[in-house]
Amino acid sequence: MRPTQPEFMLNPNGKEMQGAIKLLEQVRHDLTMAPIAPVWSLEQTSAAIAAIDLSKPVGTLAALNETSRLMQNGDLLSAGSKCFGYFNPTAAGPAIFGDLLAAARNPQLAVLSHAPASVLIERRVIAFMCTQAGLAPGAGGHFTSGGSEANATSLQLALNQAHPSFDQQGVAAFSGRPLLYVSADSHLAWIKIARSAGLGTDAVQLVPALKGQMDTTALAARIIADRKAGDCPVMIAATMGTTNAGEIDPLLACAKLAGEHEIHFHVDAAWAGALIIDPSRRALVRGIEQADSITIDAHKWLSVPMGAGMILIKEPTKASASFGVATGYMPAGDGQDPYITTTQWSRRFIGIRLWMMLRAVGVTGYQKMFDRHFALAEALREKLPQAGWKIQNYSALPVILFTDDQFKLDSQQIADQLEARGRVWLGRVDYGGVSCLRACLTSYLTELADIDVLLAELDEVRQGLA
Ligand SMILES: *Cc1c(COP(=O)(O)O)cnc(C)c1O
Repeated sequence: MRPTQPEFMLNPNGKEMQGAIKLLEQVRHDLTMAPIAPVWSLEQTSAAIAAIDLSKPVGTLAALNETSRLMQNGDLLSAGSKCFGYFNPTAAGPAIFGDLLAAARNPQLAVLSHAPASVLIERRVIAFMCTQAGLAPGAGGHFTSGGSEANATSLQLALNQAHPSFDQQGVAAFSGRPLLYVSADSHLAWIKIARSAGLGTDAVQLVPALKGQMDTTALAARIIADRKAGDCPVMIAATMGTTNAGEIDPLLACAKLAGEHEIHFHVDAAWAGALIIDPSRRALVRGIEQADSITIDAHKWLSVPMGAGMILIKEPTKASASFGVATGYMPAGDGQDPYITTTQWSRRFIGIRLWMMLRAVGVTGYQKMFDRHFALAEALREKLPQAGWKIQNYSALPVILFTDDQFKLDSQQIADQLEARGRVWLGRVDYGGVSCLRACLTSYLTELADIDVLLAELDEVRQGLA
């Protein structure tokens, strides 16, 4: 007889599992039926959490129900079908179940020898993504916690490439300030990344954007001027699918410049990079194959739960040059063990989420979702002007910026009112000096009926304010 199991063991046959399934059914219902806004005010949520007595445990099922209730009432339903803000997806079933499997088996992916199946599955998915991106055979990469970690990794690769002794001496190896070049419309995680790398905010050179795309004439001039002034350009990071307007920087022109200056060329395609999966949309991602490294988030348009990004690397040995350390306490591996090619050490099996999606619904599943999102964006672009709204951006991707053309009402005021009503949610961004409302399509659950709710809400808010 085994000794009695501690109470926190998973109990797959018991009430807990049934309770968990009931909760999932509730979530599925909420994603399409519940209001987007939190039910409680921040004060109510804060009070409800503060009132919980952490010295009195209640058991798994009660704790699960209690937590679910807090989230249901306290959180914005950003994964819901009527959330048109940012790039938060609804997490897909296969990915959720994969994530649960990873949590339950909890393999350690730091070294190949401890989890060969899990490590090789991740490598297989990464190799598949590299092929889809058009990178030459031999390319590699790894899963990350998200786009920010992937972008931070690209900067490490760039610094290492720019100076062979950067890994030893850090920035002291450089004769001038190491600089990276991104568009003014890029994702400003770059600022945090430059600070963490010890370069500081000023290392991030924000190149002006024309209609949301990096001005490559200005970029070329700036690199030359900075070189003359004694600075050390190390990387151009183009954005494919800007956060505010869904625009794509001129990838080929950026690649050419990076080649001429022999610096690292990174493509931050955290959201729109998902499209590489779909061969029929090749034209939209042209130029991405020129990259030395690419960031793609699986937790955005690829619809897996949060905490799943990727970096694809043209020459993956550069990653071990950046992150490699030798320790006596780690088992010997194949020289490409995740703990020496990535910034993490203990590693969760992040890649299982995308692997499960590819095995369960595959490329055709994603194609259907993209088709729907592009069609819905088309419908929105057609219906908005008919209803007296003016489209303000030019992206071919499903991100739409617009303003009130009827009463010229303030976009922020409209967004605030929409949020207060709580049925739909969208963003507000500044674009080309204009304050715009921003709607994007990221949830695979969104349908034409949700678009109609959005239009109806917009109209009611406008009539109320006018
Ligand atoms: C979301 C995003 C990021 C940041 O990625 P996280 O996954 O949120 O860390 C960086 N760049 C772009 C273009 C993004 O859309």
